[in-house]
Amino acid sequence: MGVFENPSFDEHQTVAFHQDIKSGLRAIIAVHNTIRGPAVGGCRMWPYANEDDALTDALRLSRGMSFKSALAGLPFGGGKSVIIGDPATDKSDPLWHAMGCFVESLGGQYIIAEDVGTSPADMELVRRETPHVAGIEEGGSGDPSPATAWGVFVGIKATVRTRLDRSDIRGIGIAVQGLGHVGYELCRLLAAEGVVLYVADIDSSRLTRAAKEFGATSVSPDKVYDLDIDVFAPCALGAVINDDTIARLRATIVAGSANNQLAEQRHAQALSKANILYAPDYAINAGGIINIAHEGPTYDRAAAFGQVSKIYDTLIEIFALARADGITPDAAAERIAAQRLCATINEAA
Ligand code: NAD
Repeated sequence: MGVFENPSFDEHQTVAFHQDIKSGLRAIIAVHNTIRGPAVGGCRMWPYANEDDALTDALRLSRGMSFKSALAGLPFGGGKSVIIGDPATDKSDPLWHAMGCFVESLGGQYIIAEDVGTSPADMELVRRETPHVAGIEEGGSGDPSPATAWGVFVGIKATVRTRLDRSDIRGIGIAVQGLGHVGYELCRLLAAEGVVLYVADIDSSRLTRAAKEFGATSVSPDKVYDLDIDVFAPCALGAVINDDTIARLRATIVAGSANNQLAEQRHAQALSKANILYAPDYAINAGGIINIAHEGPTYDRAAAFGQVSKIYDTLIEIFALARADGITPDAAAERIAAQRLCATINEAA
């Protein structure tokens, strides 16, 4: 399938492909737009079954970044890169050298950061070839995951306030799917507030650690949808909200960090119909990118986390608009983000 025929193509500004035979790099950079500033977005490394799957991911994720940054009021456009490969076996110095040169070739249109399958250490290697890197330790704001987790934590409080009419989360049941960089930190925050914590991961060592450290109850990855709890927090991969899982969910809230949680757009309506309040993924998981926006010689972690806390207000605004106009929170978030993108275009005209 060609790029223009791909259903996820949305007038993207640039879609660049690069293959480096020597290092084995096969990568795509998708820049959705740079209306509000350079296109910042993570680099995902994944053993995609084929090039079409990788392209679709890059197109969808970069569009999501445009809306995420606009919704958070940041001076960034939307971009994303994907590397077709297994992060466990295919990483090498030459691969990161080639990826750095690829990013550099776009002249600052795209700024790379870590994402699923990549780490701040990988980004240090990319930095040798290009200055267009965010989220590294030295001279940067470091791993964005703690800020993302903080945003999801305050976002869960906003959804609990709206759906359950409660100002605290003590004693409520929350299941965290995925105990990676974000999910594990989120568990720490939730446990400190006295939630009844359930955890699922395909890596059993992480479950053992969470049980020991937070008193979390482990559930098998397939059973996490069936729990009698209040909040389901997807913090692993996308498309976990689909026909099968919506029918099974007993939680009344879906609020987590994973990108592209809805398998298809229509699942936003299906959630509302099932009376499940959904915190749009790109609204609740914006903490990392907000943290990156504070990067620079005067980086102030407290100020960055203070701005991340505003995700609470953004979600309350989204839920209020959704209720007032009888639309889904997803549609409300998209409307607010689109208004902010248009306002930038009008200001520039
Ligand atoms: P990560 O790779 O560190 O963690 C993912 C975790 O999910 C791993 O522990 C993995 O074993 C687990 N997992 C994989 N498949 C699973 C399954 N079927 N069931 C249960 N667990 C499973 O990733 P991360 O950085 O923590 O990011 C998590 C999600 O949040 C991703 O979708 C990412 O795109 C999104 N996100 C992350 C950030 C960030 O700052 N890291 C920012 C925005 C969005």
